[in-house]
Amino acid sequence: VNVDVKLGVNKFFVDEGNPHIEIAENPSLQEYAKLEAACPAGLYRRDEKGAVRFDYAGCLECGTCRILCGKTIVKRWEYPNGTFGVEFRYG
Ligand code: SF4
Repeated sequence: VNVDVKLGVNKFFVDEGNPHIEIAENPSLQEYAKLEAACPAGLYRRDEKGAVRFDYAGCLECGTCRILCGKTIVKRWEYPNGTFGVEFRYG
């Protein structure tokens, strides 16, 4: 079983409207590319026009983005509140 299949069985309880991660509005794209490459959930994306698109839903709470860009792009990084966030299932 590959990693994508394993990740696919996790459940997410998304705290709509209350992001646990917030990023800078116009990040350096060079810096952003690190996050595109490193986020295991692929949440740091760019649209067809090249604009930055980040969605906290689907976050695995690994902390990689905070460690890489916590002083540049990632302005806020908290664990989700209470019962929200990822539920790992290890399929
Ligand atoms: Fe991606 Fe991990 Fe950051 Fe969540 S904590 S957005 S999974 S790098």
